[in-house]
Amino acid sequence: MFNLKKYRKKSPWILHYNAGSCNGCDIEILASLSPKYDLERFGVINTGNPKQSDIFLVTGPVTFRSRERIVELYTQMPEPKVVIAVGSCSCTGGVFRGMDNVEDGIDKYIPVDVYIAGCATSPELIIDGVVQALDILEQKTKEMEKPLRLFRDAKEEEGIVNRRDCAMKIEDIK
Ligand code: SF4
Repeated sequence: MFNLKKYRKKSPWILHYNAGSCNGCDIEILASLSPKYDLERFGVINTGNPKQSDIFLVTGPVTFRSRERIVELYTQMPEPKVVIAVGSCSCTGGVFRGMDNVEDGIDKYIPVDVYIAGCATSPELIIDGVVQALDILEQKTKEMEKPLRLFRDAKEEEGIVNRRDCAMKIEDIK
């Protein structure tokens, strides 16, 4: 777990999902991964597997067809995870807001950590959003490790960890 804390920020894997966009923001994501903008210099890899991803990049508004998929993908991702809404559509519904088959921004269904504005957004803004997400990911990793660190520091009495003391320490943190 200690190693995860140290290295997760250095090699975050992203999951890119188009919830119903016009493809404009998706092209910008691909451009940001290209050698010109080189998002991969932060160790980022675009993976197609939610179970191996740390950062969820979503473009487009939530539609009736994509709402179940987006929640399913989010729940399959392991903790800690960070969600980035890419483009005005995923932030608020954008130009599709109020249409019959559209349900506005993605934060109606999943919690969003970073919002990237723009229609279409730009590779520079996407890189800025991912860098913000790395700090949030590091913070979430530290939060997750707190109770484990307390258990590791707990006194052992005849080979048995005193869990009651640990629980009290966790209460102090809250
Ligand atoms: S924000 Fe604009 S470019 Fe991006 S998916 Fe929506 S309509 Fe397309």
